[in-house]
Amino acid sequence: MNALEVNNVTKIFPDGTKALNNVSFQIKRGEGVVLLGHNGSGKSTMFKNIAGFERPSDGNIFINNKEITRLGKSKFKPIRKKLGMVFQNFHLIYNLSVFQNVLFGRMGYYRNFLSVTTPFASAENRERAMACLERVGLAHLAGRRADQLSGGQQQRVAIARMLMQDPEIILADEPIASLDPKAGREVMELLWEIVEEKSWTVLCILHQTDIALEFGERLIGLNKGKVVLDGSKETVSKQDLSNLYYDDPLQVN
Ligand code: ADP
Ligand code: MG
Repeated sequence: MNALEVNNVTKIFPDGTKALNNVSFQIKRGEGVVLLGHNGSGKSTMFKNIAGFERPSDGNIFINNKEITRLGKSKFKPIRKKLGMVFQNFHLIYNLSVFQNVLFGRMGYYRNFLSVTTPFASAENRERAMACLERVGLAHLAGRRADQLSGGQQQRVAIARMLMQDPEIILADEPIASLDPKAGREVMELLWEIVEEKSWTVLCILHQTDIALEFGERLIGLNKGKVVLDGSKETVSKQDLSNLYYDDPLQVN
């Protein structure tokens, strides 16, 4: 079964920029896919169209075989709960504690702020949040304000929040782009360990080809909004990857 299906998706912004040009790919449940491409190739636009933050101009997107392309906010909500998201800039709430940020994973993105800012979270949710923090090695920092953590620690909090949420499909947009190489590698290792434990499906946008080859089972490459590469890491050559970063790539599929 496909966890995600993107069929002939085109996105043209109101100013005329064609960020996605007839993009198609399918991701099977449990697959770990890395999406690569240079700056401006359309990766984040793809992410936002899958996550429902933006709508395609043309084409269709299916999540767990359900078409989401033009679903309204309330119908999309139960589907979005199955999407765990990680961003380059962590997207924590910086004046709340680490613990409260993790609680947000269960409360949903649109829920009342009060449910985590007051002591009224249920005992079950509080215990669960602590267990999620333990899994990412940050239980000892539960009470600290989120802005008093290093970048690597902040991304671990975001991963704990996602564990709390208990999603099925992970969408990560350059999760290690703001981290130094050492912290970035540690975060990728942690994320992938958890992905494997949970059998999550993953679409992870990355910039670094070495990291992409290490972690992704399958690589999809975008160039100027078009898919120019799609294959398992064993079948993708160095040449295919370097073509991704030229203006006029070879079409490889
Ligand atoms: P990437 O994440 O691969 O760096 P993006 O998906 O962010 O690329 O951007 C793809 C292209 O779409 C770029 O040319 C960018 O300037 C353009 N773009 C992104 N968002 C918008 C927007 N809201 N309005 C107009 N153009 C946009
Ligand atoms: Mg981007």
